[in-house]
Amino acid sequence: MALNLNRLNPCQRDAVLHSLGPLLILAGAGSGKTSTMAYRIAHLISERHVPGNAILGLSFTNKAATELKQRVRKLVSQTSGRKASQGLTITTFHSLCARILRAHAERLGFQGNFTILDQNDQVGVLRQVLRNIRIDDRRFDPDVILFEIGQAKNRLMSVEEAETYFLESKKLAPDYGLAAASAFGKYQDQLRILNSMDFDDLIYYTVKLLENEADIREGYNFKFRHILVDEYQDTNATQFKILRFLTEKQQNLCVVGDDDQSIYAWRGADPTHILGFKNQYPEAKVVSLEQNYRSTSKILEAANCVIAKNKNRYPKKLWSDRGPGEPLVEVIVEEDRAEADFVAEEILRRSQAQGRGWGDFGLLYRSNAQSRVFEEALRRRQIPYKIVGGLSFLARKEVKDALAYWRLIVNPKDDASLRRILNWPARGIGKTSVDILSAYAFENTLPMFGAITAAVGSASRMQQKTAQALFGFRDLILDLRKRLEETDPTSVALAAWARESLERVQAKRALEEESDDPVQTAKKWENVEELVHSLGQTSFAEEPSEAQELSEPKNSRAAPFLLGEFLNRMILEAQESEKDQEEKDKDTQKNQVTLLTFHGAKGLEFRVVFMVGVEEGFLPHKRTLDEVTDLSEERRLCYVGMTRAQDHLFLIRAKNRIRYGKPQPRLPSRFLEEIPKDLLVRMDESGTPDPSSEEARQEHEVKVKNYLADIRSRLMKPS
Ligand code: ATP
Ligand code: MG
Repeated sequence: MALNLNRLNPCQRDAVLHSLGPLLILAGAGSGKTSTMAYRIAHLISERHVPGNAILGLSFTNKAATELKQRVRKLVSQTSGRKASQGLTITTFHSLCARILRAHAERLGFQGNFTILDQNDQVGVLRQVLRNIRIDDRRFDPDVILFEIGQAKNRLMSVEEAETYFLESKKLAPDYGLAAASAFGKYQDQLRILNSMDFDDLIYYTVKLLENEADIREGYNFKFRHILVDEYQDTNATQFKILRFLTEKQQNLCVVGDDDQSIYAWRGADPTHILGFKNQYPEAKVVSLEQNYRSTSKILEAANCVIAKNKNRYPKKLWSDRGPGEPLVEVIVEEDRAEADFVAEEILRRSQAQGRGWGDFGLLYRSNAQSRVFEEALRRRQIPYKIVGGLSFLARKEVKDALAYWRLIVNPKDDASLRRILNWPARGIGKTSVDILSAYAFENTLPMFGAITAAVGSASRMQQKTAQALFGFRDLILDLRKRLEETDPTSVALAAWARESLERVQAKRALEEESDDPVQTAKKWENVEELVHSLGQTSFAEEPSEAQELSEPKNSRAAPFLLGEFLNRMILEAQESEKDQEEKDKDTQKNQVTLLTFHGAKGLEFRVVFMVGVEEGFLPHKRTLDEVTDLSEERRLCYVGMTRAQDHLFLIRAKNRIRYGKPQPRLPSRFLEEIPKDLLVRMDESGTPDPSSEEARQEHEVKVKNYLADIRSRLMKPS
């Protein structure tokens, strides 16, 4: 049976059937870009008989990648059976890089079992480095320095270039510039000693690898005959470089995106890439899609009016034949709590009156910190919800602690993990001994685990008991490592090993020591067990061809390697994992209200969307108001939010927000003013239409201005 393309419009079909060479699909929101990409991959496999493992699909988040993969699989299995899509790689840039690096780490002076550090681990390493070079780490916000270090790596700077960049940076205070310049090279060296990479390293080292190792570059050119990238407007220069390397021999690169939805400038994304694609690939075929299938035309028109104010855009004509639909609703509430209550009540009302499922509702905010009041309001009404992003399962202490054991066992150089668990559960290894060990390791450029024996031997001040404890810890880890090497490379066997390891390290005792509350302890233990469970559920064998081709080490199927693979996946996915109250029941997950940031909502759609905090200070964000930057990125963010809505769009703002116990008056977002009035109705929290007459509005604005003037004059006054 042939793949049925009847559902597609002629332009979409054109893109699907495009034969070879570069292809750009540049089109507005909801025009079926991602759908077209799914069809194109399915078409390549089913009709043009390209083997699954010769195709690489890249998407922006793991969630989006997984969904895309499932869609392709479904399409392919209808025509060519399940097997045809075997080996297909659809993933994110970071995951792809992690896999490439695992296969070739030795060429860069790393080992394939390297650890990927998350933000917390990075902070730990940076603090240690600062202390080692005698800089008082308490004087600095490590996140600021790490952000700049990331920027330097994103721009592929050498250590010398980075030092100059930090010292001359206008954004960094001089003492920060100096600290960053002094720390950068040492930080990179330290990560190498620890056989660890941070997120930016994954991209950075992959570029280095592909740049310097011609055989590897050619290997991947040969392997991936088609490369397709969704959300292309958010790739940065470094990611673009990787694509250039991978398509050196063949130019079957299909990129899909919308310059109006570029919202990651702070990570170096640059919409001029997508606009300049034709310059990089002059023979590229360009397809634009004009029909929006997602939203009613009032929603679409309102979004178009907002984005139209941006300069330097690729002009688009988006239209929808879904009918005019309901007008947008601007809701003006008194303060934070009223906002949350309004949303929760409205969801309840619509689910009862219109029979909507919980999954039809999306609640979008600017920053994760805004979610708390909504969680409370939803919980009180027993409305199931999930939060995308925010504090994830993996951010929980007990989960990180348990994982740290496995990470250390896979990569004994991983100091960050060792520090977490050296005294978890309590073994009588106190801060002094950790300092002795750490100083010895630093002086001898060794990882801490590898330094235990010698450090104890050379320490004159260490008590016999502590020395015993350190040796006990060392032997425990070595023994578990040995047991792991003897374990069969299957997820079931790995889960059994994992359970045994938790017993051997006495993880339960550690939890009991931490809290007097048995209910809390039981909950934490459940979370730890959930890890074992998810390891047992991981399908490693699913794509043997992919694993073998991408990861060539001889024992690539051995248990330690697979455990490492599991740990990498966990870390990469933690960036966006979902937290919900019960978390277990996968089926009900679909039927939950989704809470997420505007950034996290990219590519998604909901029947009913609530955009909350549509105020100056949130959208545009106050950070962008302080500077003399233009607000085009903030406007794009607003556009992304609005275009997630299919049928109903609520724009909610509060007149006051309670901060430090006092109400602070707020102004409506300037973007609200850009929506034509005939597309919008206004109401207050009780649903009474149009509470703010022009007069009341002006009165409120005067109040805000007086308030701000008051603050300013107080700030100016010398105390
Ligand atoms: P975004 O810009 O938000 O990423 P997009 O351009 O990727 O959006 P999709 O998510 O692929 O758009 O599609 C939006 C909606 O339109 C989906 O519900 C999809 O199923 C539907 N759709 C896409 N193409 C068609 C079509 N030809 N006929 C009917 N519905 C379509
Ligand atoms: Mg999309």
